[in-house]
Amino acid sequence: MPEPVSFQAPKGTRDLLPPASGRHRLLIARFAALADAFGYGQIVSPMFEDLRVFERVGASTEIVSKEMFELVSRDDENRLALRPELTASVCRAFAQHRPLTPWKVFYEGPQFRYERPQAGRYRQFTQVGAEALGSDDPLLDVEMIALSWRFYESLGLRQVTLLLNTLGDPEGRPAYFAALESYLRSRAEELSIQSQTTLEHNPLRVLDSKRPQDEAVIADAPLMIDHLSAAAAEHFTAVRAGLDRLGIAYEISPRLVRGLDYYLRTTFEVAADALDSAQNAIGGGGRYDGLVEALGGPATPGVGFALGVDRTLLACDAEGVFDGPTQRPDVFVVDLTGGAEALALVDELASAGIRADRSYDNRSVKAQLKAANRADARLAVIVGDDELDAGTVQVKDLESGDQRAMARAQLLADIKSRLR
Ligand code: AMP
Repeated sequence: MPEPVSFQAPKGTRDLLPPASGRHRLLIARFAALADAFGYGQIVSPMFEDLRVFERVGASTEIVSKEMFELVSRDDENRLALRPELTASVCRAFAQHRPLTPWKVFYEGPQFRYERPQAGRYRQFTQVGAEALGSDDPLLDVEMIALSWRFYESLGLRQVTLLLNTLGDPEGRPAYFAALESYLRSRAEELSIQSQTTLEHNPLRVLDSKRPQDEAVIADAPLMIDHLSAAAAEHFTAVRAGLDRLGIAYEISPRLVRGLDYYLRTTFEVAADALDSAQNAIGGGGRYDGLVEALGGPATPGVGFALGVDRTLLACDAEGVFDGPTQRPDVFVVDLTGGAEALALVDELASAGIRADRSYDNRSVKAQLKAANRADARLAVIVGDDELDAGTVQVKDLESGDQRAMARAQLLADIKSRLR
């Protein structure tokens, strides 16, 4: 006999069971419907990629350098990694297939990051997102922000804040980076050890530190928004005007930077004010103009965002909105003839799109009716030997208690009209 064992889902992962899984699925379906309405088609790309795809887009970021799950492959032709995010895959796919532009796609699915698990932070989590490639029109940035904002609105979320920033453009950035780097170096000994290391690789990302020790230095750091080129300033002004036109309120957040390199001009994040600050970022995005080129494609501007499904649902919980779909059966079939009639009726009803359930193991009528009540079914359809002989069924409204017999041939039409 093998030793008894007890397995658990791996650290940082969760099983999503009904009814929570139904709510998760509905949220994704809502996003897909909205993205479709905005003219975005779905991209389904592999969950793993050549590891160099991610290295190319973010070698100096924690997501890529520390948090990637690498795969041990049976051949060692190339090293593979589970995707930590989807922008890189979308740009890789664009470079590979060269679709017509503007190319507007949305996605949904799990991402993998080797992070320290905590509330709202998992090693496997789901994102929905969108990317638009091939245009640097600032109104496309606005459309992206609007798509994410309208999605949160449609869920009923009200306590959310849109944070907006610009990371400038290649014209204005070198001077800003030089100013930032020399400022940070002048105060390096006041920074945390981690930020001192970040400073060596990517000074901009020091601004992203949430460590209390770094606060004072960051507070006085020069800001990109004060060092914009004329073109970047114009782009930002147009984004702001577009948001005003749509009545979408935002706060300028001059220290907002993104997790991956290559972002420039518009960046945004949505914070759920009902969640703790460690997990209140429910989504974010921005413009990136060098990614496709870095992945072997033609120079192509892009803008996109990703929203965390798990955290968005936590925000919905905190605000008491977006209940998720009902799992309540429309019909519970009570079969007193042994079970084969329930088998046939559930098959017929479910095939017609009516949510149907039943008991198993030939239980008593009392036990079956109790199960129907426990499932909170609206109607019970009861078949005994008499009904079977007569070609009828009894239909009982479990809310009013009203019960009547009808020809079995009429059942489907009757139930459909009651559920309408
Ligand atoms: P990012 O790709 O890092 O910009 O993340 C976009 C969104 O994904 C964030 O705003 C979060 O809502 C969500 N997210 C990122 N990392 C995690 C994680 N480890 N666990 C759960 N959600 C996450």
